[in-house]
Amino acid sequence: MSAPAPPTDLLALEGQLSEDDRLLRDTVRRFADERLRPNIADWFDAGTLPRELAVELGKLGLLGMHLTGYGCAGATAVQYGLVCHELEAVDSGLRSLVSVQGSLAMYAIRRYGSPEQKQEWLPRMARGEALGCFGLTEPDSGSDPGSMRTTARRDGADWVLSGTKMWITNGGWADVAVVWARTDEGVRGFLVPRGTPGFGTRDVGRKLSLRASVTSELSFDGCRLPASAQLPGATGLGGPLSCLTEARYGIIWGSMGAARDCYQAAVGYARTRVQFGRPIAAFQLTQEKLVNMAVELNKGMLLALHLGRLKDAGQLTPEQVSLGKLNNVREALEICRQARTILGANGITLEYPVLRHMNNLESVLTYEGTSEVHTLVLGQQITGESAFR
Ligand SMILES: Cc1cc2nc3c(=O)[nH]c(=O)nc-3n(C[C@H](O)[C@H](O)[C@H](O)COP(=O)(O)OP(=O)(O)OC[C@H]3O[C@@H](n4cnc5c(N)ncnc54)[C@H](O)[C@@H]3O)c2cc1C
Repeated sequence: MSAPAPPTDLLALEGQLSEDDRLLRDTVRRFADERLRPNIADWFDAGTLPRELAVELGKLGLLGMHLTGYGCAGATAVQYGLVCHELEAVDSGLRSLVSVQGSLAMYAIRRYGSPEQKQEWLPRMARGEALGCFGLTEPDSGSDPGSMRTTARRDGADWVLSGTKMWITNGGWADVAVVWARTDEGVRGFLVPRGTPGFGTRDVGRKLSLRASVTSELSFDGCRLPASAQLPGATGLGGPLSCLTEARYGIIWGSMGAARDCYQAAVGYARTRVQFGRPIAAFQLTQEKLVNMAVELNKGMLLALHLGRLKDAGQLTPEQVSLGKLNNVREALEICRQARTILGANGITLEYPVLRHMNNLESVLTYEGTSEVHTLVLGQQITGESAFR
């Protein structure tokens, strides 16, 4: 008989979820166990994901699930968080696919798009038949998006887009790119369909992190767009930043999913690995590591649930999202690192998930605002002083 699964929910948070929350969570967990978990090490090893997964995720109603209308599920923020948690418990690349599609690309169109743009893209994106990406970062403009060099200039009724975006998740796959560019009127967003003359993509190779995810460079070489390509509701950097706040929220839950998977792997391993005639779980030093992992995992989940409830009440602030992302990614990384030590040499292989998660979380620590940037956001809130420059 196999050992019972280690307890993860030490704070009885399960009781805080509604029946609908649990049903959705269990459906996604089953899909993850049957369809994703058995394949993820191979996908990571091969540096890819099957593109048709997007359609499967769409059928489950997970793409743009927290948005309303246009075929979107209209789920609560807590439900969206639970889904991010289950997907990232398999791999951060899977959660990234869903985050970028729903919280960045679809959210930008839903919030800032024209009725025609919403009608054209959102139903197909919700079904996973069309994929989107979100191009903000550039080779020379990361934490400071205000320094972007990509420009859009008016030419008659058209816009002409020139520049390069870098590190763009789903870029090489995307049917439509949401691209942010500098114009005479400030930063504006544009929808650039795949195949538009002057628009090219090149995937980033040799990644050691988020390998089960497509990361690409987007290039715009005098790319001509009709006036209808502009997102009419977005003016200034506030547009892309509001989308990032949405996506960061999912990371608060997702990062704890990666941590949970590492914690469970570590407990399971520690119970069965025998050294000095005893399971290594019986050594006090191992127990201390497992307890620290469990404590941070539970605190992280409590934080995620609290922020989710605030978001559902329409009260969540960007600073609270910074706090959640800063804490949960930092603690998730530490949990993965501790798990890796418990697995010893086995911990460095793809036979176990821990180093894969740990490597993934190095990207998660950097994207959607680095831990330093979120620290400075909170530093500014606390002191009233901006230390960005
Ligand atoms: C796998 C992956 C996927 C990504 N997907 C997307 C995507 O879909 N769309 C998109 O637009 N971008 C994406 N990004 C880019 C990501 O958002 C940027 O990498 C991130 O914003 C940081 O920018 P940078 O890498 O240029 O680092 P930099 O901004 O150059 O920062 C380098 C270091 O300096 C620190 N630093 C910078 N400024 C300060 C300061 N004022 N004070 C203290 N420290 C500072 C940073 O915290 C960091 O430690 C992705 C990145 C990765 C790795």
